[in-house]
Amino acid sequence: MTGLIERLRALCGQPHVLTRDDPATDLSAWEQDWRKRSRGRALAVVRPGSTAEVAAVVQACAASGTAIVPQGGNTGLVVGSVPDNSGTQVVLSLTRLNAVRAIDPDNLTMTVEAGCVLQNLQAVAEQAGFLFPLSLAAEGSCTIGGNLGTNAGGTQVLRYGNARDLCLGLEVVNAQGQVWHGLSGLRKDNTGYDLRHLMIGSEGTLGIITAATMKLFPLPAAQLTAWAAVPSMAAAVQLLGLAHARLGPGLTGFEVMGQFALSLVDRHYPQQRVPLFQQSPYCVLLENSDSENEAHARSQFEALLEAAMESGCVHDAVVAENIAQARALWHIRESIPLAQAEEGLNIKHDISIPVSRIPAFVADTDALLAREIPGVRLVNFGHLGDGNLHYNVQAPEGADGQAFLREQEERVNTLVFDQVARFAGSISAEHGVGALKAHKLPNYKDPAALAMMRAIKQALDPQNLLNPGKVLA
Ligand SMILES: Cc1cc2nc3c(=O)[nH]c(=O)nc-3n(C[C@H](O)[C@H](O)[C@H](O)COP(=O)(O)OP(=O)(O)OC[C@H]3O[C@@H](n4cnc5c(N)ncnc54)[C@H](O)[C@@H]3O)c2cc1C
Repeated sequence: MTGLIERLRALCGQPHVLTRDDPATDLSAWEQDWRKRSRGRALAVVRPGSTAEVAAVVQACAASGTAIVPQGGNTGLVVGSVPDNSGTQVVLSLTRLNAVRAIDPDNLTMTVEAGCVLQNLQAVAEQAGFLFPLSLAAEGSCTIGGNLGTNAGGTQVLRYGNARDLCLGLEVVNAQGQVWHGLSGLRKDNTGYDLRHLMIGSEGTLGIITAATMKLFPLPAAQLTAWAAVPSMAAAVQLLGLAHARLGPGLTGFEVMGQFALSLVDRHYPQQRVPLFQQSPYCVLLENSDSENEAHARSQFEALLEAAMESGCVHDAVVAENIAQARALWHIRESIPLAQAEEGLNIKHDISIPVSRIPAFVADTDALLAREIPGVRLVNFGHLGDGNLHYNVQAPEGADGQAFLREQEERVNTLVFDQVARFAGSISAEHGVGALKAHKLPNYKDPAALAMMRAIKQALDPQNLLNPGKVLA
């Protein structure tokens, strides 16, 4: 393997190929996943600086039969972006490919390199007078290449769609090291198979995204946030229907948060002052983006909440008076995963169910878990507008989190995933499969779909060099 390392250094430059030969080099930032569930061992970390260098690296790895793990911000939650512990895989970090290549205001697009950090792209778009609506709590670290690799969702999917829906073209290095120049800004192109959609969400197993053309949108004239206490999950779904009807395309966010999830924020971050959660089993965070002005947005919101209170699906509500209050409400929602981590280790789920069936799913599954594992605590929150719940399972109060995970994780996953299947849902709504769920996928994916996925992988990557062991075990 010395020959390969030398070759990679010749291609990318000595400082951009890191190995543990140098005792001063710490590879943990690339080898350890964000949740600290898995620490791999890389042969090397390679950081090419251009598409041509990515292609050359892939060719060199393919010639020596070396597996490649593409990596962006390494914020993925399913152990997809880190190597296994064989010490034979090369981590290919895209973070040096971070240029904004072009903004086309008339076509409403921007063409950007894969390593651009999401938050920077939002800022670049705003400076140009546009909205780039992809938004998630990891946006300060995750990259657009990783967002496309995982088909990321986030908080504005119900209005603007997933990363997939925001992408018009891709530049990709395939498993043979060839560059596919697919950076089209076209909204219509029916010339055969859509390779873009094949690559998006493939978690680095079919190709390495080096650049993308993404959609831009007009900036809203006003954005208002409201917080509503609702008497049940069914009431939250009823409120969603009302909000769709009253706000139309202005409804850009609809998040549900269970009482226990909010109590963890209250316990671990008391300075955040969580509103209205003590009296209600669920609270909802709504966002209204208006193309007219703030007064219009506010009157729409007030009319919606009045109607919701009359119909009984909302007990009480507040509308943020200013941007600082709106940010504080969103901050509470975004603090739930962190508060949960403070509380101890937990079993995370990222599931989707048809919105209409969520109340029955939650009632049934809450009861099932309470029966099977007495004292278990459910941290239920998520993007209800998209039918996506983070239905997380926390050890009983005072229990040893490590032991809980060791003894119960497999069983809890099976209980929850079987319920998801019963309610016609998906075991991964946005985080993906990675290595964490690869062994579970065959139990829940349609066998014909799985066979086609395997055939595609075999056709595009016959040596199984791109992120082996991820998605397809
Ligand atoms: C606090 C927090 C909140 C989060 N919230 C959300 C959320 O609301 N919605 C959501 O969808 N996700 C969420 N995530 C998960 C994560 O942020 C997303 O999956 C994100 O899209 C990953 O981007 P990344 O650059 O960090 O990718 P990485 O973690 O580096 O990689 C993720 C996967 O994509 C592949 N990949 C990376 N770059 C490329 C590339 N250029 N070409 C091909 N494949 C590539 C990797 O091999 C890996 O399989 C959250 C994570 C955290 C830590």
